[in-house]
Amino acid sequence: MGDWSGKRVLVLGAARQGMALARWLTRHGARVTLSDARPEHELIPARESLADLPVRWAAGGHSLELLNDCDLLCLSGGVPLNLPIVAEAVRRGTPLSNDTQIFMEVAPCKTIGITGSAGKSTTTALVGEMARRACADHGPWTLDAISYGPSSVVYVGGNLGDPLINYADDMKPDDLAVLEISSFQLEQITASPDVAAVLNVTPNHLDRHGNMQAYTAAKARILDFQARDDAAILGRDDPGAWGLRAKVKGSLSAFSLMPLEKDLTGAYLDKQDLKLRDHSGEQPLMSRDQVRLRGDHNLSNVLAAFAIGQAAGLAVAGMLKAAQDFRGVPNRLELIRELHGVRWYNDSIATAPERSMADIRAFDEPLVLLLGGRDKDLPWADLAALVRERVDHVVLFGEAAEKIAAAIGEPQPGARPYSIARAESLKDAVCKAADVAQSGDVVLLAPGGTSYDAFKDFEERGEQFRQWVQDLS
Ligand code: ADP
Repeated sequence: MGDWSGKRVLVLGAARQGMALARWLTRHGARVTLSDARPEHELIPARESLADLPVRWAAGGHSLELLNDCDLLCLSGGVPLNLPIVAEAVRRGTPLSNDTQIFMEVAPCKTIGITGSAGKSTTTALVGEMARRACADHGPWTLDAISYGPSSVVYVGGNLGDPLINYADDMKPDDLAVLEISSFQLEQITASPDVAAVLNVTPNHLDRHGNMQAYTAAKARILDFQARDDAAILGRDDPGAWGLRAKVKGSLSAFSLMPLEKDLTGAYLDKQDLKLRDHSGEQPLMSRDQVRLRGDHNLSNVLAAFAIGQAAGLAVAGMLKAAQDFRGVPNRLELIRELHGVRWYNDSIATAPERSMADIRAFDEPLVLLLGGRDKDLPWADLAALVRERVDHVVLFGEAAEKIAAAIGEPQPGARPYSIARAESLKDAVCKAADVAQSGDVVLLAPGGTSYDAFKDFEERGEQFRQWVQDLS
C-alpha cells in the first residue's frame, strides 16, 4: 500500500507497536481504528496519548463487525493469531500486516533484521553499536552506491526498544536500521530486510505457534522475501537455523563456536580467538577473554554480530571497538550482588527451558537454581537432564512448579540435585535459596517459564527479584 490516504486500517492491540503504527498511519492519511481487548477505563492513558489524532477506538474485545469497513488488519506482537477476528479476516480475504512489515516497505535506508529464539536483543544491540562506531569513526565508506559516514544515523529497535516506524519519516538513504524481529511479527510479513539473520530456532512460543514446524516456518519468513543481492546470516551450530540455508536467495554467511568449513564466510571461534573470514581470507578479531559477556551463548551472539556486520559492510575496526566495550543489555544474566560469598544472578528473561540451559552452562560454580513461572507448553526433559548433571539445589515457584518437578524426578541420595524445594512465590524462593546457598555458590534466577502467572512482565519479575535479593541480610 503505497498511498495510505483514505485507507481503512484496523489495528489490534493498543500497546507499543499498535500505538506507534496508529500514529504513523494517521499522519499518512489512513483512517485508523484501534481495537483493544481491555475495557474502556483501562485504555484512558492510551487514548490520551493519541488525543491529537483522529483515531477511532474500540474497547472490550474485537467485534467482527469492525471488519466491515476495513482494508487492512494490523496485528501487534502480543495479539494471539487464533482470535476469531483474525480467522474471519483471513476468511474474507482482508490482508494482514504489522508495524515491522510497513516499516520495511517504507524505510528509505538499508535494513538489518535479526531473529532467533534467543539472543536477539543482545545481538541487535551489539550490531547497532558496531554500526554506530563504524559510521562515526571509520566513515565515509561506500556500499552498493550508498556512502556511509558520520552523517549516517543508526536506528536500533523493533521488538527491542522502540518500534522503528516511529522514525521512518526522518530516515535518509544513507542511514541504517537495525531491527530485532520476533516470530510473531514475522508471521504476517511479506517483506524481508536487506541483511537477515536467523540466530537459532529452538522450542519457544509453541503455545502460540502450535508446533515446531509452524514456528520454524515463521522464522524462515525473514528470508523468504529477500532478493539475490541481499545477505543472509545463519547460526552454523544450530540445526534449526542452519537447516534454513536452502532458502537463502542471496549471499550466505555463518557464525560458529567452531572453525567454519573452508567454503563459508563469516565469524567463528578458533581455540581462544574470534576470527572473521571473507572471500579474500581470514583475520583474527579478538581473544575470547576480551568479550565481557558471560557464557558461550553470549560468545555466539558476539560472533553473530561480527558476521552480520561483515555482511552489512561495516568496517572491522569499528566492529572491534564496539565488541570490546559491549557489556550486554540490562536485565540479562545480571549480577545483582555478592552476599556472604554467594553471587546472585538475575536472568528473568529466561522464559523458555532452552534459555535456562544456556544460563546454567555459563557457570562453573556450584548452582542454586530458581525455576518456575508459567509454562508455554514446552518440553522440560533436556533441562531436567542438565539440572541432574549440573545443579546442586533447585527451588521451584509459580504455576509450572509441579510440571518441572515431575520432569526432574525425586532427588536421589548422593546425586544432583541434592535438594528440590517448593516455594509459595518468587519472594519465598529467594528466602529458600538463601537458606541453602553456601559461600562460593551462584544463585541463578533462570526460570524457564514466563512471568505472567504472577507479574506484569519479565522486567517487573526481574525488578522484584533484584529488590528481594537486595533486602537479604
Ligand atoms: P531475545 O531477545 O531473543 O529474548 P536476549 O538477547 O534478550 O534474547 O537474551 C535473553 C536470554 O536468552 C539470555 O539472558 C539467555 O538466557 C538466553 N540466550 C541469549 N542468547 C542465547 C543464545 N545465543 N543461545 C541460547 N540462549 C541464549
